[in-house]
Amino acid sequence: MKTIYLVIPCYNEEAVLPETTKRLTELMSDLRQQGMITPQSRIVLVNDGSKDRTWEMIEEYYRTQPQFFEGICLSRNQGHQNALLAGMMTVKDRCDAVISLDADLQDDINAIREMIAKFEEGFDVVYGVRSARKTDSAFKRMTAQGFYKLMHLMGAEVVYNHADYRLMSRRALEGLAEYREVNLFLRGIVPMIGYPSTTVYYERAKRFAGESKYPLKKMLGFAMQGITSLSVKPIRMITSLGVTIFLVSMAMIIYCLIRHFTGYTVAGWTSTAISVWAIGGLQLFAVGVIGEYIGKIYLETKQRPKYFVQTYLSDRKDDNGDFTHR
Ligand code: UDP
Ligand code: MG
Repeated sequence: MKTIYLVIPCYNEEAVLPETTKRLTELMSDLRQQGMITPQSRIVLVNDGSKDRTWEMIEEYYRTQPQFFEGICLSRNQGHQNALLAGMMTVKDRCDAVISLDADLQDDINAIREMIAKFEEGFDVVYGVRSARKTDSAFKRMTAQGFYKLMHLMGAEVVYNHADYRLMSRRALEGLAEYREVNLFLRGIVPMIGYPSTTVYYERAKRFAGESKYPLKKMLGFAMQGITSLSVKPIRMITSLGVTIFLVSMAMIIYCLIRHFTGYTVAGWTSTAISVWAIGGLQLFAVGVIGEYIGKIYLETKQRPKYFVQTYLSDRKDDNGDFTHR
């Protein structure tokens, strides 16, 4: 039996909290009765600087049902990713695994059962993946799909159709804590941690109350953040473009010279045409090279962890260290 914490970031969610907490407490008591989770398991509501009554409500849930709820209040609005991280990092030492989910329960909470089962099987990370997007509007579906395509193209590897609905074991969370970068894009970082992982599928429902906190503008910003925080591929693209144009310019120089010597030009054309091509190509190439170094500096400043030991086989009995952290 494992201690599982459900971490839920909440930003202006007064409209959905009554229903959400009702459904989750029902699920929690079921899971407890069936002996799937310990009585120490909790639902953690993280208030991300809401301007409505969200925090007052969270306080109330904690006051009336402390056996189910814990509350965390951030000093101000920090955005979904940071609120999630704050919740996970605050509780990671008190549980065996954390499941993160949205306050609007668009992610089917019945998948939680399966996630816990997979965790018991030995998986450290269980991704919740949407099997269908029937309930999303055509526009949301298109932009979301475009998002994954773009991410992939730009070298940011993310799990397809997986939002932030996932289970993470304690050691995976400890791994996550080692990523000290400020621009943290969880969906991209979690696969980088490694350890055995698997997926469970569920159908995504409609938001039953309140409004989406992710309008298109925020989504674009989110995609941008994902790409620039994970990969230096855009810089690489500039370099390739520079090299290509430089090569084209070489060909153009030869072409211009041929024209010049065969006399098919007006005076001054050859030198002008050559300089435009050569300097243009050279400049872009140079910018790309500088970009490569900036990319390196960028990645170095993140000081990402280089490895995590998953298992350490040793027959020495003189220390009883548990190297597998389980
Ligand atoms: N959220 C947050 N801080 C923000 C924006 C959103 O904590 O600044 C939370 C929000 O309360 C919800 C989750 O992030 O629990 C996902 O938001 P939403 O459901 O609006 O996004 P969508 O499902 O439309 O992509
Ligand atoms: Mg939602």
